[in-house]
Amino acid sequence: MSFEIVAKDLAGRVGLLHTKSGVVETPALFPVVDPRKQEVPLEAVQRYFGQVITNSYFIYRLTGGRAVDVKKMLGWGGVVMTDSGAYQILRYGTVEVDPDEILRFQQKIGSDIGVILDLPFDYEEPYGSALLKVEETIRRAKRAAAYLKEMDMLVVAPIQGALYADLLARSARELSRLGFHIFAIGSPTTLLEEYRFDLILRVVLEVKANIAREAPIHLFGAGHPLVLPFAVALGVDLFDSASYILYARDDRIILRDRTLRLDDVKTDYLPCSTKLCYTPVKELREMPKQERTLLIAEHNLAVLREELLEIRQRIHEGTLWEYLEIKARAHPTLYRFLKSIDRRLLEEYDPETHPDPHGLFFYSDTAPRRPEPARHRERLNNVEPLSRRAVVIKVEEKPYNRNWQYLYLKKTLGDRAHILFYDPIFGIIPEEIAEVYPLSQNESEGEDEEARAHAYEWLRRYDLVVLYNVDIPLMGKKVVKARSLEEVALYIQP
Ligand SMILES: [Zn+2]
Repeated sequence: MSFEIVAKDLAGRVGLLHTKSGVVETPALFPVVDPRKQEVPLEAVQRYFGQVITNSYFIYRLTGGRAVDVKKMLGWGGVVMTDSGAYQILRYGTVEVDPDEILRFQQKIGSDIGVILDLPFDYEEPYGSALLKVEETIRRAKRAAAYLKEMDMLVVAPIQGALYADLLARSARELSRLGFHIFAIGSPTTLLEEYRFDLILRVVLEVKANIAREAPIHLFGAGHPLVLPFAVALGVDLFDSASYILYARDDRIILRDRTLRLDDVKTDYLPCSTKLCYTPVKELREMPKQERTLLIAEHNLAVLREELLEIRQRIHEGTLWEYLEIKARAHPTLYRFLKSIDRRLLEEYDPETHPDPHGLFFYSDTAPRRPEPARHRERLNNVEPLSRRAVVIKVEEKPYNRNWQYLYLKKTLGDRAHILFYDPIFGIIPEEIAEVYPLSQNESEGEDEEARAHAYEWLRRYDLVVLYNVDIPLMGKKVVKARSLEEVALYIQP
């Protein structure tokens, strides 16, 4: 196995991708470097990243198809990924190279990770042309599969299908049978620029549902710290981007939660403490353009590295969701996306137990989308009533089963009733599991309507339900509301 998963959170994971030139810790970003003219010296890139991606088609054109050592050519000692030039098809129409030839070429120049010549698409692409691309890619992949084993590089199969679920599923299913190591998802830059994570999410999930769950997924062209944690949470492991230099050329400074134009900086120094940003803004503005571009590009690389380290740390901690909540505040589209995630989807991937749960879950208004409450309610369906009679109480003090009101009722009622807590986010919490993490270790803000609806249904299994301090609109004569703890006891006679 070339990919080893070390930790998981939501659908994201920290992993180790083994290549012939070394291990890449994921989630990882491959900065794009240009074999024709690399503006940022690779020694600078290497300070932040151990891997780069470059365009094998450019090399092919430069050398006339003669195999050179890509690492020597670039002057790079780390891991090299190559792509196949799909983007050039998009820009210049066609590429005069055979798909087999360009894949073999990537192998010959010593690439560690190569990509089958993929076909770029538009997300508004008509069904017919998306279908043709799926079929063409499968044809190419089948030809490549015949010599896959003799190649000493990892090979990426690009998934086609635009946004059509059936095509994506077919593409992923067929390609995954052929033994590829990595699957790539194209991301028309417009989708990322508009933060259309809802669409990216659909694509990622469709792909994941049709390939081995552990297989690494690469998202083409994503390179902003605002995008990365969301894509990772959805299950993306690898990224490539030229953002560090493209933004720098425009005097755009990448920050963890936004992009800042040099013209808009009002302070004397950038809000960053990388060594590069010790240069006063005034000096930055006045220095030659090229020198400034290099400084900003290096800053951008530093910030991207910082972001990826944060994401990995969050996955280890099991706090990726909390991190998304912070990030979502930066842009309304992200916020809406987070609120609308169908949590059942994440639930399917989120590990049930985190190795190292942190002390407190904080539930804000986006929290009902977290997987844990729905998972809890699903499990409740296996809980047997301890008695035919239930007492449902809502109390503030946690842990619930050490609360004085609970202790009072327990002492008074003994086993004559099943005591249940009502939590505004999780819903019904039976006394016997009240200490299970994170039922009693959460801070909640707001309420989850599904919790109430679930309680309404779930409580039907009891012959008598006594509510104390809870407002669940239960129907029927076997439901009573008690105004005090003493009154509860009156309803639960021996
Ligand atoms: Zn900086």
